Amino acid sequence: MKHVKLLILGENCLIDLKSFNKSIFTTFSLITSIYARQIATVTPKKHTVIVLENKENINYNEECDCVHIHFKTGMAKEAYKIADEYRKSEKKVILSGTHATALPEEAKKHADSILIGSAELLWPIAIKDLEKRRLKQKYDSKNYNKKNIIITTNLEIPSNQTLIGIIEATRGCPYKCDFCQESNVQSGSTFQVRPIEEIIKEIKKIPQKFLFFCDASLTIDTKYTKKLFKKMKPLHKKFICEGNADVLSKDKELLKLAYEAGCIEWTVGFESFAQETLDDINKKTNTIDEFTQVVKNIHKYKMAVLGNFIFGFDQDTSNIFQQTRDNIKKIGLDSARFAILTPYPGTPLFEKMEKESRIITYDWSKYNRKNVVFKPKKMTIKELQIGFQKISYDFNSIPNLMYRDIRSLRYGIYPFLTTIVRNIESYMSRHRKKI
Ligand code: SF4
Repeated sequence: MKHVKLLILGENCLIDLKSFNKSIFTTFSLITSIYARQIATVTPKKHTVIVLENKENINYNEECDCVHIHFKTGMAKEAYKIADEYRKSEKKVILSGTHATALPEEAKKHADSILIGSAELLWPIAIKDLEKRRLKQKYDSKNYNKKNIIITTNLEIPSNQTLIGIIEATRGCPYKCDFCQESNVQSGSTFQVRPIEEIIKEIKKIPQKFLFFCDASLTIDTKYTKKLFKKMKPLHKKFICEGNADVLSKDKELLKLAYEAGCIEWTVGFESFAQETLDDINKKTNTIDEFTQVVKNIHKYKMAVLGNFIFGFDQDTSNIFQQTRDNIKKIGLDSARFAILTPYPGTPLFEKMEKESRIITYDWSKYNRKNVVFKPKKMTIKELQIGFQKISYDFNSIPNLMYRDIRSLRYGIYPFLTTIVRNIESYMSRHRKKI
């Protein structure tokens, strides 16, 4: 078997797009899947690669030798279903991603082989073995003494038409917050950077004006990020990226360079307004006294701020929702995303919840930050679920959205536009789950 036809399913392929397709906004704001295109890049050229991004396009009878599915926990149920279906027609199935890395024994039941850790590193090795018909049951990047690198995205492969292009400059995060799956599963806490020239070359090839940095945080190595922002300035792109409160509250030079490079919005994981909670979950980058300054600094340089918040920590009582709303108003965020604490496999939080027998379901499709999957400490399951739905609903009421949209106009047209899109996304998702 020399020439192999490979089907790579990106993460977007596992999401049910039907509800999104009803809306012109969400259809066009969907971001192209990046990992499938990176895996395609490291596939030896002699093989044919098809990247699938839409579940509706799956044809189980399609001639191919191997199907690679890369997925996260919330999509595991769907990924296993698709894997089982492909295996019925005797196609080899390889699974990778954070969930398969955290629970390889479970994933193995639905696959011929599992890639544990870096899929980009292990995929070419597995393909070679597949060619020789000696595919192993698992490949673990710990056993290969190769340097992990961030792969250039294969932009030649046709993709869904999206408003926003995607780019990755760095990977991993050394902070290892207790709830964060990406930084806690193998190699996620190893921080890596791509050569800046390579990123600039890739950005030049991306047709979209708007970019999304999928990096965990662009404030981990500020020296590197400042260099990157300086080089991005002549490209005249507009972009959104994530950063941490410790740096954004102090480093005005970074914010100035971000603005000049085209940044229109920072996403910040504030997570909670309770310092005790932040200390308890090991969120080293956050001090609540700095939150107001973070927002002030970002606004000073005419960029918008999206804040992420999580509910259900052990110190949270049913008052947490109102307290969070009041504090968001006080610090003046442009948009906010709310989530229910989710103990993802591979995290210290998952281990703790299992030890305390607090996990109430292992139905992975519920692990999407919108469902309570564990017993909270100082609230009932119902209080947490309803409180989350109510804050998502009230915070995103039309008068509230309009107020925040109009207020963001003072930072310029692009922060205004990104705030509108964020708020519309939140408005639509609140209606998908009525109280
Ligand atoms: S700072 Fe963000 S990316 Fe890093 S470990 Fe914490 S939650 Fe994860």
